Amino acid sequence: MARCKGCGAEIIFIKTSSGKSMPCDARPIIYWENRKGKGKIVTPNGEVLSCDFTGEADKATGLGYIPHWATCPKAENFKQTGSKGENLC
Ligand SMILES: [Zn+2]
Repeated sequence: MARCKGCGAEIIFIKTSSGKSMPCDARPIIYWENRKGKGKIVTPNGEVLSCDFTGEADKATGLGYIPHWATCPKAENFKQTGSKGENLC
């Protein structure tokens, strides 16, 4: 299991459909797919979707992974341009 170099949280890398490895929180969560949703979720097969994280339980889309930059307390570091920020997680 990989760990975030910024905050030490357990993370996993999911290869997205664009070929990039996305650092995500290791724990999958329930999401509701919503094109207008404010959240982003990475599905286990690498699709990045807009979604909500609340909704009616029986209408949940499925389980996915939150990009770690959305939850990392050190997320500021992710916004740096250049190789430094990209290497953080
Ligand atoms: Zn982190």
